[in-house]
Formats: sequence, C-alpha cells, structure tokens
Amino acid sequence: MLDKVVIANRGEIALRVLRACHTLGIRTVAVHSTVDRNLKHVGMADESVCIGPAPASESYLNVPAIIAAAEVTDAQAIHPGYGFLSENADFAERVEKSGFIFIGPTADVIRLMGDKVEAIRAMKAAGVPCVPGSGGALDDDTATNTRIAHDIGYPVIIKASGGGGGRGMRVVHTEAHLANAITMTRSEAKAAFGNDQIYMEKFLENPRHIEIQVLADGQGNAIHLGERDCSMQRRHQKVVEEAPAPGITPQQRAEIGKVCVDACLHIGYRGAGTFEFLYENGRFYFIEMNTRIQVEHPVTELITGTDLVREQLLIASGEKLILRQEDVRFSGHAIECRVNAEDPDTFMPSPGTVKRFEAPGGPGVRVDTHVYDGYKIPPNYDSMIGKLIVHGRDRATAIARMRIALSEMVVEGIKTNLPLQQRILADGGFQAGGQNIHYLERRIAEAKEKAIGLGG
Ligand code: ADP
Repeated sequence: MLDKVVIANRGEIALRVLRACHTLGIRTVAVHSTVDRNLKHVGMADESVCIGPAPASESYLNVPAIIAAAEVTDAQAIHPGYGFLSENADFAERVEKSGFIFIGPTADVIRLMGDKVEAIRAMKAAGVPCVPGSGGALDDDTATNTRIAHDIGYPVIIKASGGGGGRGMRVVHTEAHLANAITMTRSEAKAAFGNDQIYMEKFLENPRHIEIQVLADGQGNAIHLGERDCSMQRRHQKVVEEAPAPGITPQQRAEIGKVCVDACLHIGYRGAGTFEFLYENGRFYFIEMNTRIQVEHPVTELITGTDLVREQLLIASGEKLILRQEDVRFSGHAIECRVNAEDPDTFMPSPGTVKRFEAPGGPGVRVDTHVYDGYKIPPNYDSMIGKLIVHGRDRATAIARMRIALSEMVVEGIKTNLPLQQRILADGGFQAGGQNIHYLERRIAEAKEKAIGLGG
C-alpha cells in the first residue's frame, strides 16, 4: 500500500483525493500556490508545500516544483486530479523517471489518447464504434479532402488532433466552404495547440453525450461502471450530469461497457478512465477518452457504491482489481449540479469572499466542496467551487431531492449559478430526460429572448 501521496491539484478534487487517501491510512502532501494557503485540504493534509505564485503556469503546472515537493517530503506517488497536469504525458513520464508513481495510466497511453487521430485509430482497431470520418490526418490536397467529405456526407466537422476543451473545431455544411475551413482550422490548431494536424468527422446534428466509466488494473483486469449522461452543456462545458442515462437499457449498457473493457485491455490501460461517446439514433460514436478521474465521477459512485478515487489509489499501489464485472450493481439514480462562482445570467466569473456558506443535507445528498464561511475564491482558476450530488431510488426522487438541496444551499458574498441550476431542474424538458447536447443552450437563448424562465 502507498504510504504518502502528493496531491498535485487544488479545490474540491484535492479535498476529494485527500479524503480517499486518509480513508486508506495514506498520508498526504498538499502542494499549493501562494494564494491557496487557505484551501481546506491544505489545512487537513499531513504536510504542505508552496510550489509557486498564483498563475497556474508557475505553480500547478510547474513540473519541477511538484517533483521537488515529492522529493523533499519523501512521498511515493503523485495524484494529478483533473485538469492541470492530469493528462500531460510528459509530466507522467517525468514523475516515473524521478522514481515516483503517477496515479494514472502509463505515459505512453496518455500520449496515445491525447493524439485524437491516433486515439481513434487505436479505438477502431479495438472494435470501438467511432464517428464516420477521415480515418487519419488530412493533408492539403483539396481534391482528396473534397472526396473524403463527400463520402462522409455533409455536414462535416474539422477537428484538431491535439485539441481539447471543446476548442479547435469547425462545422462545414457545404463543399464551397470546405477548403477554407480546413486552412483556418489548421492554422488555429497550430497556434493554440502547437500541432497543426487536423482530421474530419461526420457532424452529428442532435447527439447526446454519454460516457462510460472504466477501471483497469494494468494487470489484465478491467471493468466498466456503467454510463453517465452529460448532455446538459453550455459551450461544451458540462453543467448537470446524471447516471444512469435516461432510456439506456441494461443490454445497451452491457454491450457498450464490454466494448470499452475490451479496449482497455487492448491498449494496456491502467487506472480510472472515461470513454466519451456521442449517442444518436440508438448508436454510440466514440469521440475521445479521458485518462483521469472526471469532475462528474460521483454520480457513478452513488449508483454503484464504489469509491473511484480509492480504487485509483489501490491500483497505483499495485493491487489487482477485486471488483469483478458481475459484482457491479446499479442502484437508483444520481444527479450532479456543478456549482460555479459566476453570474447565472451573463456567466461572468464572480470571485471574492464567501461571506456565508451553508451546505444542504438529508438523505441521499452529497456536497463535494472546499468552500467554507469566509473562504476567499481567487480569480486565478476555474470558477467551479463545488458539486452538489444527490441519489434517489429513481430519477424523479433524485430530481425532487436536488431541487430541495439547491434551495437549501446558501452561498453569500459572490454570485453563483445556483439560480440557473434551479431553473434547469424545474424545466419540463430536463425532467422528461434524454435531451441532446444543444438543449440547454437553446433554452437559455429562448429564455433570454423572452426574459423569463431559464437563464432569464
Ligand atoms: P474536446 O477534447 O475539445 O472536448 P471532443 O472531441 O470531446 O473535443 O468534442 C467536444 C464536443 O464537440 C463534443 O462534446 C460535441 O459537443 C462536439 N463534437 C465533437 N465532435 C462532434 C461530431 N462529430 N459531431 C457533433 N458534435 C461534435
């Protein structure tokens, strides 16, 4: 078993990792920037090390400082959380070369999945259904590209192989716009990601976002823990997530889950991971794999009764998966609302001091947050300040619990998106379930026009 772990992250996920470590008797080292001395987990960690000033580039992305922190504290392993360095293959490699355990997959697997063209190639080879597409990187030959687009059928989407965070893509509806779109996406990709490789896919017009959670021990064992529906998005950012996905049958779950498990074994996957799919007309289309723990992992934890971060730590300790697929049982329904420090109407970030904080409670209610009375949210990082997660025996119970929990939650001194979350939970379309990835933005736009209801 690991003895001491460096938590190379901040906020709610750092606290989440700390709790899992302490549950297993593992000591913790919090690394933090100068503005993050008062983070909740820093005070709870066995040791803490300041790794640099507020800008993430000089602290949470400062690889030598993080590795030095592991060295001076005599830690064995580094947990990257999500965001920051969590999907940085070079970081994982440096960690391992310095003699520490990276809590995640091998650097080679992270690198493979970070290159979308290569990832899709590997997934196809493993039997994972992918979006019809170019099957490889595009070159600059207009005649070839025109033929590829014609074969796929318009509309198509041009995407950057090194892209991320929903950036670096362009939808093309007609042949007349194709060549120009390719040129522009290529130059943007080069500027934004330092990689001008691009590829083409069929643009699915009304898909849902459904993803599969996996665990693999890198020793020949892998399981899936079902799916999550993350279709409630704004600007490709997830806002509400739930598990199971409305309308997905046990048979569909077992089928797509098995495909993902086989793919894990095919690529030698280790740790927790997520296969993201677009889902349209009853079919799954792989878009990317996240090689880390995800923000929305708690909904899976609540319906399966597993502690995914604990599993990550056990796998990193070299233990084999004890859970077998037949042991994974799905019970009830879970929903997560992300709580952001932002204006609920303009979405402008709203950092500042939280003058009063009161968490909701009651049966089936979980609050993952680092916020407390008097906590000062710095302007330097992501605006997410916590997650409210509920579980109930069925979806209607979960919705009812979430609505009460949202109404109980008090965050004063800053603006939050809690009013938007309340409007989403009260929305008839959301309550019906199974909406596509454009639904939320459409409702927000409609509400703005009417200046009532959602977003209004
Ligand atoms: P990123 O790594 O930037 O998140 P993804 O490949 O995961 O890139 O795509 C992000 C989002 O872009 C998806 O959730 C979806 O909303 C949209 N998208 C990507 N590919 C397609 C496609 N082929 N058809 C329709 N929408 C797409």
